[in-house]
Amino acid sequence: MKKTILIALIALAGLTGALLLLNFKQKPQAPTNQILVAATIPPVGDMVWQIAGADSGLMVMTILPPGASPHTYEPTPEDMRDLQNARLIFTIGHGLDDWAVSLTANIPQVEIITMDQGLNLREHDHGHEEDELKKEDHEENKDPHYWLSVKNAKIMAGNITQALITLDPANEKLYAENLADYMDELNYTDEAIKHKFRDFEKRDILTYHNAWGYFADDYDLNVIGAFEANPGQEPTIDQLAELQTKIKNHGLHTIFIEPQLSEQVIKPFSQDLGLKTAVLDPLGGSDMGYTTLMLYNANAIAQSLFEQ
Ligand SMILES: [Zn+2]
Repeated sequence: MKKTILIALIALAGLTGALLLLNFKQKPQAPTNQILVAATIPPVGDMVWQIAGADSGLMVMTILPPGASPHTYEPTPEDMRDLQNARLIFTIGHGLDDWAVSLTANIPQVEIITMDQGLNLREHDHGHEEDELKKEDHEENKDPHYWLSVKNAKIMAGNITQALITLDPANEKLYAENLADYMDELNYTDEAIKHKFRDFEKRDILTYHNAWGYFADDYDLNVIGAFEANPGQEPTIDQLAELQTKIKNHGLHTIFIEPQLSEQVIKPFSQDLGLKTAVLDPLGGSDMGYTTLMLYNANAIAQSLFEQ
């Protein structure tokens, strides 16, 4: 790869990195008769917003604040208050955002829409011991990070459109048009990411938690391991030793951290092994759209592959 391309990659990564810091929680506006719909995590909130558009009059609220991890989030009384008039809440399910169920338990009119209809879900990559324990429990063992595939996002966008049309049939034409536009953007994003990875022979990455399996499947990348086999739980000494062997065998120089997970926890490990850290962001925030987020992540991975 030419040096100018690398410089452009670094500049783009720096720019989007700065954008990551500017997140804020999107709140519904003042009391109104408009229809309120909600999403648990920012990428889904953005997809819903893309289909709803400004002209439908739908209000779209995202519950998870920037910087929080859905794996460990505890909803607040304020969240419950904000959702009092919500009609739909779009969730990922499969253990990622189950807190949405208890959050809406006392809001009778709200319907929970899990976004996974029509998707092929991966089995979750756990450590070997957990694999044995959970083998029979397939339903509980699906990898919930399916939004990190642009191909899946296209199906999710279709699911969102169906749900919005059912809720608000008067705007069916508008939602269908918005879906068509958004499909173009998702197709472009998918092609752009594919293009970024076309020249790399070594395609190994090491992540903080097991969120990137769908992304890796889409672009033929190889996730050799994750620092935290279970999100929010620090790895055991054995897990770290196993990971260290993999890192040596694959000759990796970079470990990806995430804005929602503690950098302090990973620091001793990355410093001991002389690993460089770079940032992957599975969630982004309400001011950074899903496609921008995915391009940011693709750039960060491409840069690490270039340096291998
Ligand atoms: Zn996760």
